[in-house]
Order: sequence, then C-alpha cells, then structure tokens
Amino acid sequence: MKAPEKSRISASVDYDKAGKQFGYLSIPHSRDDSAWGSLRMPVVVINNGSGPTALFTGGNHGDEYEGPIALMKLARELDSASIQGRVILIPGLNFPALCSGTRTSPIDGGNMNRSFPGSNRGNITNMIAHYVHSQILPLCDLVVDIHSGGKTLNFVPSAIMHQLDDEQRMRTTLDALLVFGAPVGLVLRELDAEGMLDTAVEEMGKIFISTELGGGGSVTAETLHIADVGVRNLLRHFGLIEEPVAKREDFGMEPTRLMHTPDSDCFVIAEDEGIYEVIADLGTEVEIGSVIGRVHDHQDPSRQPVEHTAHRSGLLLCRHFPGHIKRGDCAAVIAEDYHRN
Ligand code: ZN
Repeated sequence: MKAPEKSRISASVDYDKAGKQFGYLSIPHSRDDSAWGSLRMPVVVINNGSGPTALFTGGNHGDEYEGPIALMKLARELDSASIQGRVILIPGLNFPALCSGTRTSPIDGGNMNRSFPGSNRGNITNMIAHYVHSQILPLCDLVVDIHSGGKTLNFVPSAIMHQLDDEQRMRTTLDALLVFGAPVGLVLRELDAEGMLDTAVEEMGKIFISTELGGGGSVTAETLHIADVGVRNLLRHFGLIEEPVAKREDFGMEPTRLMHTPDSDCFVIAEDEGIYEVIADLGTEVEIGSVIGRVHDHQDPSRQPVEHTAHRSGLLLCRHFPGHIKRGDCAAVIAEDYHRN
C-alpha cells in the first residue's frame, strides 16, 4: 500500500498526549485579504489511560447546529480523569461553512460529505477531508457524525447507520444505534453514498453512527437534549465513561423505533416547481398512494396543483422544509419498521 500523502494541514494538538487540549487545525488559506493567511479550525483532544478512540464531528454541513452545540458543551464538560481512552471532538468539520451558516463552504463551494477521501492538492474542503481521512480516522475505533436536516429538510430525530455486509459489525453498529437513544434508529439507504465520511469510515472497517436530528436551519430543546444524551450514551456504551447508559424509558419516553428505507420508493422527489402545501405532517403514518403534499404554481393560479403521493406506507420521517420547492428536490422520506435478525 502507498504511504498516505503528507497533509498541508498541521495540528496544534498532540493526539497521543494525556489530558485535555483545546487546539486547532491550521489550514493554509492564501487570499486577497491575507496573503500568508490560514484558517484555525477548532479541535479538542481528551486522552486518558487505555481504551478506544472515538471521533465526534459536527458541522459537516454548516447549517446543522445540534452537533456543534453538543460537542462544544461536551468539550468543556468532559474531564480527562473521568474517561478511559481518547475522545477527539471537531465541532465544525466544514469550518468555513459553519462560520457562514451554510451547508457548503463559502470559500470553494465544497460539500464536506461528498469530499472524502479528499485531496492534499484540492481546495480547502478537500484538504480538510484528506487530513481527517489520513491523520485522524486511522486512530479511531468509533466515529460519530452529527447531522440534522439543515435549512432545506426537517427530520423526526433519528440516529442513522447503513446496511452493512459484515454481520458482526452490523450487530455492533445496531446496538450503538439503539444506545444513542433518538426517537428513531434508521438503517438508511443513501441516494448517493459516494464521497461521504460514512463510506470512508465503513471502508476502514470501523464503527460509524450518523444522525439527522431535526432541521430547518435551527435547533429545538428536544433535538439538543437528544444530541447531549446520545453522545454521552455512546461514550458510556463503549466504556470511555464508566456510567450506565441513560435509557429513553428513564425519561418517560417510548423506546427507539427501529426503521429502514430499503429502496428508492421511500423517497418522494418533487416533480414541479412552486409553493409546497404540506398535507401529511412530519411524524405521521402515511398509506401507500395517499397524498402527502401538493405543489402550487404561483405563476398560474388557474393550474391545478401537482399532487405528490407516498410510494409506500410508513412513517413520514423527513420533509422538505422551506415554502418553495423545485423539481428534483427531496419532498419527503418515508420509513418502514425494521426487524432485527
Ligand atoms: Zn448534514
């Protein structure tokens, strides 16, 4: 195997040093207003004794805020003496995007979750992906990437994994998915998995959990609570914190509902452009063939709206969030119950 390319990004932290370090990744960024400038992207390392290494990332998309908030809180609260192992926290993985509150990078338009394994000679987004892929992922046993729907989608809060061919890893990941403690645990079929952090970690044979905790470009007290409990539960479950896992039942909530999206019929894609009338709200049960939304042509009120129907029965897990919709947008995702072997 070829030795990994050296990164142009340098870290102010030492991943092997014991204790807690708040530091940054220094990313060269020569530009009009700073000829020899760089970006300083926060990274936190908490290391003590022996145990697994867990990487938690937020802000992979810059308009999804549960991850950055939960991970900044965890970074301040977690004491190195109270863990066994190593926790690496990156609250803003696409740091330029988080700074501007946009899904993709305002510098190069890069979508971090389509940029792995990245490139040392690429743009800023590619350089960050390459650094994480070549320098951090090899250290990790577990990677948790906290997403929500951003400005254009809204989700029933879900912890997410992919269907895996390796039976042992499928079982271990399903256990972790339930431990996270979101209302839904989703085994997801991606529309396009190329270039995702998920795919990069899975190809290395490591445990990967993602989430979609809400959306609309904001947060709720509920989704933040789920994120706070979820990240700590994973640390407890994998033995990094010596505490029992907090179960949903302890908070008087229903257990996590295990669901999946087995094929492309689960995705309802908009067929017209206009104003989106929601017929079925997020979190409702829909029947196959039922109308879940209509697109009204605001240029021509005489036109009948285009009806969008469910291609299968199940839970309306995700919906398009803004009032306007375009042809090709994801209007909704419908999930079915999933039964473990
Ligand atoms: Zn995202």
